[in-house]
Amino acid sequence: MPVVKVRDGQVAVLTFGEPPVNSLGVTTRRDLAAAIDAAIADPAVAAIVLSGANGLFSAGADITEFGTPKMLAGPNLLDLIALIESSPKPVVAAIEGTCLGGGFEIALGCHYRVAGAAAKLGLPEVKLGLLPGAGGTQRLPRLIGVEAALNVILAGEPVPAGAFKGSPLLDQIADGPVVAAAVALANAKLTELSGRAPPRARDRKLREPALDAFLGFARNSIKAAFPNYPAPLAIVDAIGSAATQDFETGMAAERRGFSELMHGPVSGALRHLFFAERAAAKIPDVPESTPVREVRRVGVVGAGTMGTGIAINFLNARIPVVLLEVGREALDQGVARIAETYEGQVKKGRLKPEDAAARRALLSPTLSYPDLAGCDLVIEAVFEDMDVKRQVFERLDATVKPGAILASNTSTLDLDRIAAVTKRPSDVIGTHFFSPANVMKLLEVVRGKATGKDVLATVMKLARTIRKTAVVAGVCDGFIGNRMIEQYLRQALFMVDEGASPAEIDRAIEGFGFAMGPFRMSDLAGNDIGWHIRKRRYLESPTMAYSRIADRLCELGRLGQKTGAGWYDYRPGDRNAHPSAVVDELIAKYRAELGVAPRKLAKAEIVDRLVYALVNEAAKILDEGIANKASDIDLVYLYGYGFPAWRGGPMCYADTVGSFGVVHRMAEFARNPHGDPGFWTPAPLLARLAASGGAFNSIGVRS
Ligand code: NAD
Repeated sequence: MPVVKVRDGQVAVLTFGEPPVNSLGVTTRRDLAAAIDAAIADPAVAAIVLSGANGLFSAGADITEFGTPKMLAGPNLLDLIALIESSPKPVVAAIEGTCLGGGFEIALGCHYRVAGAAAKLGLPEVKLGLLPGAGGTQRLPRLIGVEAALNVILAGEPVPAGAFKGSPLLDQIADGPVVAAAVALANAKLTELSGRAPPRARDRKLREPALDAFLGFARNSIKAAFPNYPAPLAIVDAIGSAATQDFETGMAAERRGFSELMHGPVSGALRHLFFAERAAAKIPDVPESTPVREVRRVGVVGAGTMGTGIAINFLNARIPVVLLEVGREALDQGVARIAETYEGQVKKGRLKPEDAAARRALLSPTLSYPDLAGCDLVIEAVFEDMDVKRQVFERLDATVKPGAILASNTSTLDLDRIAAVTKRPSDVIGTHFFSPANVMKLLEVVRGKATGKDVLATVMKLARTIRKTAVVAGVCDGFIGNRMIEQYLRQALFMVDEGASPAEIDRAIEGFGFAMGPFRMSDLAGNDIGWHIRKRRYLESPTMAYSRIADRLCELGRLGQKTGAGWYDYRPGDRNAHPSAVVDELIAKYRAELGVAPRKLAKAEIVDRLVYALVNEAAKILDEGIANKASDIDLVYLYGYGFPAWRGGPMCYADTVGSFGVVHRMAEFARNPHGDPGFWTPAPLLARLAASGGAFNSIGVRS
C-alpha cells in the first residue's frame, strides 16, 4: 500500500505500511522516503506526522530480507532515518500499537514522539542474535540513559509506553486519537521553534558518572548468563560507544557489531529457528484455507502425570475440561495435582487467586464416560499399553458425539492401530505432549494414515491457542523426537560400556549446550520409561544390539529422582545429582562381564557420537516422510529435548558441520568394535547429501 498523504492545515500526515505489521521492506522504505522528500519540498507543508497503517506503527524490518541484497537496497533503514532526522521541518512520530525494531528506530530518528497509551515499544533484535542496527543503540541511550537503554535492548521485549513517561523519549502519551495529538503537538512545536531547527536525539549529551564501573558490571553479568551468545556483549559495547564517543563514531561501531553478528553462526541459527517456527504451521497438502472444527469443550482420559498437565493447558486457555479416570482415588489425586499447580503459581505471584479459581472452576472431574459425550475433542492419556488404549478408544467411539476429535497422547504406539478400533478413524489424531505438559512448549501432532485434513488443521490451530509449538509427525515408533532419542541413548549406554562414566557423558553434552545430559534426563523422567520401551524392543527387534547396563540399574530399583537413586544419588530436599559408588561398581562389574577394558573417551567423541546418532536417525525420518522438513526436527529438539538454540537444532548443526564431515566422522566410529556394527551406516539421505554437498535445511518443504 503506497503512503497515504493527508493534509491537516500546515501538517502533512503520512501513513505508511503493508498489512499485517507494516514491516519495513524495500518497497515500503522507498515509498516512505519519496513521500517525506515530497513533503519537505512542498512549501505548503510546515511539519510532518508519521503514522503506521493497520493500527500499529511498525513491527520492524522485513526479516526475510536479512542477509540478502534487498536489506541494503536503497534507501536502507539508515538512509531513511537520516532523511527524517535531517528534515528542516519537524517530524513527529504518531505511535499506535506495536513499535518495534526498525520501526522504533525510525521513531527515534523523528524529532518528536507521541505514543498512544496502549502502545508498546521495543528492540527485539537480540532475540535473533543481533543488535539494533539502525541507530537504536546510539539514540535510545541519549533519550532514556545508558542503564534503561541497556535493559530495554537486552530484554528485547515490548515495553508499554507508560514506562517511558517523563523521559525525553516520549513527548506525550495520548489517551485519545494519537494522530490528532501528534498534529496538535506539531503545531505547538512549530510555534515554539519559530524557525529554529528541530531537536535531534543524536545531539543530546549523555552524562553517565560511573559509566566504566557500570559497563564492567554489565559485561561480567552477561558473560556469566549468556556465554554462548555474542549479541548481548556487542550491545554493551555499542551502548558504551554511544556514551563515550561522538555520534558518528558510535554509529560506525554499531554498524560493525551488527554486521559481525549478522554473518555469525549464532544469529544464523536463531533466524533459522524463527523461520522454522513459522514454517512448522504450514503442512504441504493442507492449505491454510482448510476449514477447522470448533473446540469449545475438551475431555481428558487419565488423570495421571500427563493427563493433568494436558488439562491445565486448556483450563489456562479458558476452555472447559472434563477429566475422566477409572477410580475415585486416582481422580481425586489428579484434581489435587491440578489444584497444587495453581496454588504454586499464586504463591509465586504469577497468577491472581481469582484467576486461579476461575480456571479451576472450568474443570469437571468424572468417572463416567457419558460425561464426555458433548466434548469437541477428547485426549486420551492412560497407560502406555495398546490393549488399554484400544479399550478406551472403543468406549470413546461409542459415547462421544459425532464430529468430535479423538486424540491419543501415546509416545510410541501405532496410532493407526488405535484408530482402527473406531468407526471414525479420520477423526483420530495423536497429540504427543511433553512432560511437564503444562510447561513444555512442544507438541508433536501425529498424523495417522486416515486422519482428516480438517482434523489436523484444527489441532494445529488449537496448539496455538494453548501456546504450543506444534510439529507434524507421521506414524512410527517414537515419532520424531523419541525415535531419535532412542539412538542417542543407545550410544550413551555403549559409551558407558566402553569406559565413560554417566557424569562424564552428561558433562560433555551439557558443555555442547544441551540443557541436560542423557543420564540426568533419564533420572528426571524415570528410568522405568526407557526400561519399558527396551523390554518391548527386545521382543520386537531381537537383533538390535543394546547395552543391558540400564536394565541392571532398574533391576536394583534405581528408577531415578522419584526413588532417590538412579544413575546418580539424590538426597532429600536436594535435586542435585551426586555420583554414586553403587553405580560405579555396577558398571565396573558389567564391563568385566563383557570383557571390555575401559578406555578414556574424549569429550569430542562423546559429543559427536551423541549428536550424530540423532542426525543419522533424523535423516531416515526425513527420507521416510515422518517429518515434513528438517526445520521441524530442529524445533522438536529445541522445545522438547533442550538442544541449544544457539546451534539451531541438530539438522542446522549438521548443516554447519557439513554432511561430508558428519559422514566422515561416522566412518571413524564405525571402526569401533563395540556396540552395533551397523549403527554408523549413513542413512541414505545423509549419504546423498554428503555426495552432493547438499544441506538438510535447504531441502525445503517436502510434499
Ligand atoms: P500415569 O501412569 O501417570 O497416568 C495414567 C493414568 O491413566 C493413571 O492415573 C491411570 O489411573 C489412568 N488410567 C489407566 N487406565 C485408564 C482407563 N482405562 N481409563 C481412564 N483412566 C485410566 O502415566 P503418564 O505418564 O501420565 O502417561 C500417560 C500417557 O502419556 C502414556 O501413553 C505415555 O506414554 C504418554 N506420555 C508420557 C510422558 C511422560 O513423560 N510421563 C510423556 C509423553 C507422553
